[in-house]
Amino acid sequence: MTTRLSKLRPAVLGLAFGLTLASCAVTRAPTASTSPAAHPTAPWLYADLYLQTAAEYEAICLQTYNWAAERLKAKIAALPKVGRIPAVVMDLDETVIDNGGYQSFLHREGLTNSSALWEIWEKDHFHEVLLVPGAKGFIETAESLGAAVVYISNRTATFQEYTVATLKNLGLSLVGIDRRLLLRDGPSDKTGRRKKADETFRVVMWVGDNLRDFSDAFAVPEPYGTEAERFRALEDRKDKVRENASRWGDDWIVLPNPVYGEWTKPIASDPRKFLRPTAMKK
Ligand SMILES: [Mg+2]
Repeated sequence: MTTRLSKLRPAVLGLAFGLTLASCAVTRAPTASTSPAAHPTAPWLYADLYLQTAAEYEAICLQTYNWAAERLKAKIAALPKVGRIPAVVMDLDETVIDNGGYQSFLHREGLTNSSALWEIWEKDHFHEVLLVPGAKGFIETAESLGAAVVYISNRTATFQEYTVATLKNLGLSLVGIDRRLLLRDGPSDKTGRRKKADETFRVVMWVGDNLRDFSDAFAVPEPYGTEAERFRALEDRKDKVRENASRWGDDWIVLPNPVYGEWTKPIASDPRKFLRPTAMKK
């Protein structure tokens, strides 16, 4: 579960089949004679449609980035005028970059995610990615305030040139990008790269769509264990969110992602078991 891909669509395989991404392979959808519900990406269709079609999603992103810009202005204004350059650390996929086209491909072709397919998307289709609403405006505001925008992503360092091409294609600044782009060349845990960014710059804000973009304390322990342990893992993550309640909307800014992420891991084997109980019956 170390690749960006393993983060990208664990839901597709994980929830549909209870498999881990580490073991996932590209699979064809069932033939037309089987139930449409057996389509491998079917459980995620509406999650993707929410990102791709819901005006509410766009409004949430704009709301988030508008607020983040106001917080950033206040934070930078309060900094001493000497010392390291202030910075904002941002995740890339589904924080700055919208990869909806890749999801459309999976749905339409009846495929599940694989590192091989993702690599094709990353290398040959970088011109198809879009911006998460509000991200570019926020980045430009940060830069106008004199802050460096540092990208910490689990896209692989092997394909750095394609990630740089993606940013360029989106019209984002590449000034000093070698110091500002920290891709994965080892574990998916971003702790070391966060520390590096904090030592190079004075980081005042972190932005991501997965809570592991803020702290690896939000990682779900592997293996995911028994059903009871999975319930506990879900509650533990919420407890940690509550423990850090004052940071959300302050220096931790989170974007919504209903399609994939750390949150999907505990519920992978049987998602219905994780629905909230109710006394209501038909
Ligand atoms: Mg992300």
